[in-house]
Amino acid sequence: MTEQQVPAAVSDDRPRSADSRLRQRARAVIPGGMYGHQAAGPLPPEYPQFLRSGRGARLWDVDGNEYVDLMCSYGPVVLGHQHPVVEAAAAAQAALGDCQNGPAPVMVELAELLVRTVRHADWAMLAKNGTDATTTCCTIARAQTGRRKILVATGAYHGSAPWCTPRPAGTTEADHVNLGYYTYNDLASAQQAAAEAGEDLAGILVSPFRHDAGYDQELVDPAFARGLRELCDATGAALILDDVRCGFRLHLGSSWEPVGVDPDLSAWSKAIANGRALAAVLGRDAFRDGARNVYVTGSFWFAAVPMAAAVATIGALRDEDAIAGMDRMGTALREGIVAQAQAWDLPVSYTGPPAMPYLTFDGDTDHELASVFAARAMRGGAYLHPRHNWFVSAAMTGTDLALVLEATDQAFAAVRKRLSRLSI
Ligand code: PMP
Repeated sequence: MTEQQVPAAVSDDRPRSADSRLRQRARAVIPGGMYGHQAAGPLPPEYPQFLRSGRGARLWDVDGNEYVDLMCSYGPVVLGHQHPVVEAAAAAQAALGDCQNGPAPVMVELAELLVRTVRHADWAMLAKNGTDATTTCCTIARAQTGRRKILVATGAYHGSAPWCTPRPAGTTEADHVNLGYYTYNDLASAQQAAAEAGEDLAGILVSPFRHDAGYDQELVDPAFARGLRELCDATGAALILDDVRCGFRLHLGSSWEPVGVDPDLSAWSKAIANGRALAAVLGRDAFRDGARNVYVTGSFWFAAVPMAAAVATIGALRDEDAIAGMDRMGTALREGIVAQAQAWDLPVSYTGPPAMPYLTFDGDTDHELASVFAARAMRGGAYLHPRHNWFVSAAMTGTDLALVLEATDQAFAAVRKRLSRLSI
């Protein structure tokens, strides 16, 4: 039986021994046993830490347990794991070369494709991680304007470098001294922060919608997006869209194209190469000189395989009409989950775009109920997250959806029991 044929059996006592052994070994040689957003901490303890493989919308942990993947590697996997067209393109490039003294021709092909695909883009630069892309956008904005201050929304995540990491350990005040803060969707607060930055305002960094971990998601108010555009036009600052998490999941172009607002610079990563390590900075001609003058690079930034994967990913997103498909599947997921919450008489908020939803239980400020829900859904074969938005991939089928809804129904039952102070 292949992994694809193995049914995702619902059981309360899934094997965990291989994962436990790996965790034990990791604790000896990896600080904390794990770090960053994959640290076991934010996930309920029942979650596996180590995963063995993925195919389509399914993944398997190291003990062979199968899940429908609703986290998609926290965003990179958009077409599904091991998408055949992407894998074939990556393999063809790998047979020629990957990490070389200079980039392969596919770098130009990809830059041309990005410029054709994303409305505001006149040029493209490529890197590895989302943090590379957001940091480079800020560096270019400063290089172009000769100013220092960047405005960010309070609580927004833009990466793990010292200037933007949400944890203060190891950072200094100097790392944040050139940031100003506004409240997402509150134009007056951005205007106020811009006024405080005055002549020193280099840019305003903003995500396509408010997707701060652990909070209900908030779609952008188009008037807020237009107001930021006007503020940047009036001050000469760069409007920087952090499309790292949403890019190519909501629209085949920048996520603000449907809103009608184009940034000057945009940061991309995650979904652009369906799981291969790649990031991009896209920009307008007005910022081309700044982009040319900054020194940004990395030993692996010009690797050709991820670029070939990105060309294939963007092509497949278009050929498969994948964004509309994720929207449809995400809408069906939302309808199913909201109906279940009502049937269990559990007040919830289900927020964000259908393809990137997030569920919270009313009054559950410490995420206790969300953790009960997630852990039970995981045991039922649906891998989702109690504190982070979920991701629907284009590989998800009706069978996957049915399995997820079976698992979430059991998960709501577990929450109801917890609330009734009964054992689960
Ligand atoms: N910006 C946003 C909106 C993100 O969601 C992330 C990653 N979660 C980043 C930037 C940083 O990306 P990376 O982890 O690839 O550095």
